[in-house]
Amino acid sequence: MFVVMRTGATEAEVIGVKALILDEGLTPFENVGVDRTLIAVVGEIGKRREPLKARLEGMSGVASVALISKPYKLVSREFHPEDTVIRVLDAVVGDGSLSVMAGPCSIETREQLLETADFVAAHGATILRGGAFKPRTSPYSFQGLGVEGLRYLAEARERTGMPVITEVMEPSQVDIVAEYSDILQIGTRNMQNFSLLLACGRSSRPVMLKRGFGATIEEWLMAAEYIASAGNSQIIMCERGIRTFETTTRNTLDLTAVPLMHHLTHLPVVVDPSHATGKRWLVKPLAIGGVAVGADGIMVEVHPNPDEALSDAEQQLDFAQFETLMGALRAVHEHVRDLHGDLMHSEGVAAAPVASVNGAA
Ligand code: PEP
Ligand code: MN
Repeated sequence: MFVVMRTGATEAEVIGVKALILDEGLTPFENVGVDRTLIAVVGEIGKRREPLKARLEGMSGVASVALISKPYKLVSREFHPEDTVIRVLDAVVGDGSLSVMAGPCSIETREQLLETADFVAAHGATILRGGAFKPRTSPYSFQGLGVEGLRYLAEARERTGMPVITEVMEPSQVDIVAEYSDILQIGTRNMQNFSLLLACGRSSRPVMLKRGFGATIEEWLMAAEYIASAGNSQIIMCERGIRTFETTTRNTLDLTAVPLMHHLTHLPVVVDPSHATGKRWLVKPLAIGGVAVGADGIMVEVHPNPDEALSDAEQQLDFAQFETLMGALRAVHEHVRDLHGDLMHSEGVAAAPVASVNGAA
C-alpha cells in the first residue's frame, strides 16, 4: 500500500507517517512528486493490512491510502506514475531521447576497446559497453580480462567522455565493478540471483537488469523490486530475448515487453538485439523494431573485427554496420518519438486500437 500525503503536508507529518511504518517493522519509501509526496509501505504486511490502512488514514497530513494491486510495489507505475530518468555523466536514459549502449561483447585488449570506443563515440553512441567478467556457457571459453578490463573501460571513459557499463556476476564483485563502471549490468543468467540483486541495490550506481531468458514479465519486475527494495531505484530494464521453441535464432526477442514494461513500470526499457538474435544481419531490423515500439535505448555489440572476436563473434557488428545502424535508428526515433505518448501508459487508450483491429479481422 502507499500513503498519499496532502498537498503542502509538513515535514513533521511526513516523519510521523514514516515513524508509524517503521514501528510496525515495515519500510517506508518516499516518492516526492511535484505537488505531493507518496510513501510506499514495504514489507510483509500480511493480516495487518486493513487495521494499518485505517491507522494511516487517520494520521495528520494524510490525504488517502491506496493499495498497490501488483506484487511489485516500488517499481510499479501505480506508486510512481512519473517516468524514471537516469542521468550518468552526460548520458540520460528515459527522457525521450535515444540511448545507444555500444561496444564489444568482451574487452579483449586495450587497443580493441579504445578503438571501438573512439568509433562508437564518434558515431552517436551515448554509453560504452564491454564485458570484463564474462558469464560463459563453457568453462573452457574466454572468461574475460577481469579487473584489467575494468581499467581499460575507465581509460575509455576518460578519453571519450562516455559513461561505461559492464556486467557484475556476483555480490563480491559489486564494489570493484562499481569503482570503475558507471552502470552495473546484471546479466540474463543472474536475473534471479537474489543476493546479487540486493548487493546491487545497496550500490549508488544505476543498474541495468537484463530479462532472464526464462523469466516472465512479472518475475523480471519482481527482480527489479529486489534492487529497489534495497534502496536503489535507478534501474534500467533490458529486454534481450527469451528462450522459446524456436532455434533458428539464439533467443526470441519479445518486443511486446517494451510497451508492456512502459505500462507497468516507471523504469526505462532498452532492447538488446545482439543477444536476442545471435546473428549480425538480424541486429539492424530488430534494433529498428525496438526503437519503433518505444524503447528508451538499444544495447548493441560492436567489434573492430567481429570474425576474430573471442566471444559472440557471429552477432557483433563491424564499424561500418554500426554506422549504418545509427543512421537508421536516428530516422526511426525521430519519426516515432511523439507517436507513443499515453498509449503506453493508459489501459483504456491502449485497448482501443487493438479492439478495432480485432473487430475488423
Ligand atoms: C552481455 O550483454 O554481455 C551478456 C552476456 O548478455 P546476456 O546476459 O543478455 O546474455
Ligand atoms: Mn555478448
